Amino acid sequence: MPETLELYNTMSRRLERFSPLEEGHARLYTCGPTVYDFAHIGNLRTFLFEDVLRRTLQHFGLRVTQVMNLTDIDDKTIRGAAREGISLREYTDRYVEAFFADVDTLRVERAEHYPRATDYIPQMVELVQRLEARGHTYRSEGSIYFRISTFPGYGRLSGVSLEGNLAGARVDADEYEKEDARDFVLWKGSREGEPSWDTPLGPGRPGWHLECSAMSMALLGETFDLHTGGVDNVFPHHENEIAQSEGATGKPFVRTWLHAEHLFVEGEKMAKSKGNFFTLRDLLEQGHDPLAIRYLLISVPYRQKLNFTFDSLHGATQAVERVGNTLRRLRHSPAATGAGDLSTEDVSSFRTELERALGDDLNTARALAALHGLLRQVNTALDGNGISGAIRAELDLALADVDRTLDVAPRDEAAPQDEDGEVQRLVEERTAARAARDFARADQIRQRLGELGVVVEDTPHGPVWRRR
Ligand code: AMP
Ligand code: ZN
Repeated sequence: MPETLELYNTMSRRLERFSPLEEGHARLYTCGPTVYDFAHIGNLRTFLFEDVLRRTLQHFGLRVTQVMNLTDIDDKTIRGAAREGISLREYTDRYVEAFFADVDTLRVERAEHYPRATDYIPQMVELVQRLEARGHTYRSEGSIYFRISTFPGYGRLSGVSLEGNLAGARVDADEYEKEDARDFVLWKGSREGEPSWDTPLGPGRPGWHLECSAMSMALLGETFDLHTGGVDNVFPHHENEIAQSEGATGKPFVRTWLHAEHLFVEGEKMAKSKGNFFTLRDLLEQGHDPLAIRYLLISVPYRQKLNFTFDSLHGATQAVERVGNTLRRLRHSPAATGAGDLSTEDVSSFRTELERALGDDLNTARALAALHGLLRQVNTALDGNGISGAIRAELDLALADVDRTLDVAPRDEAAPQDEDGEVQRLVEERTAARAARDFARADQIRQRLGELGVVVEDTPHGPVWRRR
């Protein structure tokens, strides 16, 4: 591994060289969606950051085991199901399906595990029992709370101050503000109209924070490498997860915490509660290209806020088109007969720069700038003496690096499908017809290509075709 991978650890507040606990294997927990509604593109920005993280770890030679939970029971999913008068499962299934459709559309690689909270109730119960045995809990009105004064490390991740924390004051809500750093609920005693499980803890249901502690440790072990989410997860969610996990095991829970900054709209955080959000389907219905959305959402390094505007989406659309045009042109240009105008050094320095950029705490802006630099060199070479066959092979490897990490090249145009060679034959026939000034025949062939869904463009370098 020539370059090093450095990541900013929210816990230490420093860049750290990443090295996994187990050689060659990175274990990663990414807080997933609460499946009570369609994800908005702010949520998707966070999932895309995690996608780039996963791909970068792989690029640095690591095998990745990634877990992304699906929060199918919390205050919001219960409210939603009750409002529609259907079961929690029926209600959340709909949004689980929508979530997978969205991430697939945005080319997010699938994680190894997608545990649903309601499938891990026994593990959650066991975790609470361990906390009870170690004196971290108390009961009140059928619910069980974590007493934060029993956990001296409380607040280290978020820097929250416990001053003004009232002894014995509790919070039952899944989400709350820093000012309300209080004893939080682990197990909520059953309530009228809420789903409830009969367990050794008594009837009830888990609190949100408990879910992630139980599922992450069940699937990744009691100590693992990386845990991520949006910055709003730092407090209380991740702070509470640390208290629950370390309180129960006495071992360090997570070695590196990474948090993505939010997507903003006109200076405000994009949020369901503010009504200032777009879902992926909103944007697709308006005719925007999913690849441009992916490009836009990864174009700003994850620790910086990203302000969403339609101008920036337009810019991303153009950037993706530029990538597609250059790759298409490359594919349809013959290899240079001589040395050509792109060198081994050009290609290898790009590959090094891509790796450095990603290794620099996932600096996607720098990585994309490097890609555009390379494509400019490719265009210049194609305007001149072309690119030799040997360098093309190297270039293909460099472009494969890009597909494995940033994955922003339009697929159809990068690799148009023409299995039986019919399109190529027609295109050549059309070129011959034009050369012979048989324009009627050329038009006929263009029409036939149109029926096959293929568009031909005549460029100074000869005809170039693509799928519509
Ligand atoms: P939720 O479905 O609400 O549990 O959120 C899923 C993920 O999206 C969490 O990691 C949140 O931190 C993240 N998130 C929520 N709002 C935004 C936003 N405006 N920008 C980026 N990430 C967000
Ligand atoms: Zn979580």
